[in-house]
Amino acid sequence: MKRQITESEKQELIRNCRREDGKIYCFIDNEPIDDEKNIHFDHIDPFVKTEDTSLDNIAPVCKNHNLAKKDMSLTEYRDKLSIEKLFKSKEEIGKQLKLNDVLDAKYNLDYGFLVKYQFDEMSEEITVKYFSDSKQTNLPKIIKYPVFTCPITKMKFFYAQVPVANIINDGKEESDIELQPRPLIIDHFWNLYRHLRVNTQLQPSICRVDGDNPIFVFDGQHKAAAKIWAGTNFLDAKVFIEPDVIKLMKTNLVAHDKLKQLRFYSSILADKLAQIYGVNWQKYIETADKKSEKGFCNFVKYSETSTDENPTKQIEAFIVESILKHDENKIHPFIAPENKTGKQYAISRDSLKKYYFRYFVTSPPLDVEIDSKDDFRNQEIENNVKLLNILAEKTLIDKWNPDSNSDDHKKADRIYRAGSIMAWFPMLRNVIFNKLDLINPNESSRILFRNIPAEKWDLIEKFVEKLFSHKIWIDRDPNIDIVIGNKKAELTKKLFDEKGLTDKWILGLIE
Ligand SMILES: [Zn+2]
Repeated sequence: MKRQITESEKQELIRNCRREDGKIYCFIDNEPIDDEKNIHFDHIDPFVKTEDTSLDNIAPVCKNHNLAKKDMSLTEYRDKLSIEKLFKSKEEIGKQLKLNDVLDAKYNLDYGFLVKYQFDEMSEEITVKYFSDSKQTNLPKIIKYPVFTCPITKMKFFYAQVPVANIINDGKEESDIELQPRPLIIDHFWNLYRHLRVNTQLQPSICRVDGDNPIFVFDGQHKAAAKIWAGTNFLDAKVFIEPDVIKLMKTNLVAHDKLKQLRFYSSILADKLAQIYGVNWQKYIETADKKSEKGFCNFVKYSETSTDENPTKQIEAFIVESILKHDENKIHPFIAPENKTGKQYAISRDSLKKYYFRYFVTSPPLDVEIDSKDDFRNQEIENNVKLLNILAEKTLIDKWNPDSNSDDHKKADRIYRAGSIMAWFPMLRNVIFNKLDLINPNESSRILFRNIPAEKWDLIEKFVEKLFSHKIWIDRDPNIDIVIGNKKAELTKKLFDEKGLTDKWILGLIE
């Protein structure tokens, strides 16, 4: 929700913001806004965070930046532009961003100051001296913490709010052993940044102290980086005291491997996942015991932060993305991106969603435990890629060519007109249902949610060929295009019936 600004407040803002040269400057890039008609105003910090209704939280922004930033606050948008720039600068030199790069950008080498500590085993207390400069000329800040012992491993640790100037990434550049080899992922970073601007950090970052060094951060680096980018000076941390690093490294690997076993976290998909579920899924897999799509939906529904989200849609989007962006997907070049139509594409994403996925992807959320023997979501994704590839090979590849007016192209064009697909996709579903020897009608709603042996795929391919060998696709009768152009499933269905294109014909049950 945004605060509305009255006309008189607007005048007041303009008066206050006008600089000595008489100009108003854009908050985002600090460039003058020459045409005063283009001055917009918006919140500097997220409104929900500050609930700040005073004019202090409002600043001028040029019209273009105001449109581009969408629902972000001004600081969020400014930080987004700069984080993207940072990621890009690393990418250009073939590197990936790590926590230290974020510290570098924010503190300009003024960080990574060491700490000295004294651990008193008797009183189970640790005294930590935080230095605030590299030469240790300033007096350090001294804080005492209670020390806890892990009942299982006997490792010692304490909880602290550590000054950001005293932390450093636990990578191989900084210490002999690399406990944190992973780079930052921009979407995950950004989601956490936005989340932590208005919410408290639930889990601390995990660190260690060892000798006269800064404090090494080896887990929770996304949280740490996000908070640092948002301007925090302290990091909530659980700090191990001179731990057995080899042991910790194994613990860390096991923890991440275990998460990776989960389908949604498999390596290739991690980035995509981050885009779609990001923080939600991450939190869910850390908390839940047995995981299922339904469990995820409940988790999102009852979590305090995200009541306005639609988890089912997130899962759906994830499945669709996984299919369409699959490395082996061959139909992808023929699909128009969302909101775009145009002669160069055979089908739009929206049409696929509306007329294809409803028949070939089981609607989430599923109740089955993820990665259990009853979970065929992965297979379903693979099967869809396979089926779409068969369609692409039989109807589009080397055929679709909008620049020519070849017969092959005309045929492909007729096949993929919206009026057509709404009739033949369900037909294809029925044929596959039949060829997989399924009997229970309930199975038709999860037709590809299973292992399909190679010989069955050969059959499916054969019947796809049959479907597109029908003369209706090349028939010169102009009425065909007129009917298909109506985009009414019943009308196309009737036409198909009249022309003899039916389930039974494809299956060879009638001539
Ligand atoms: Zn601007």
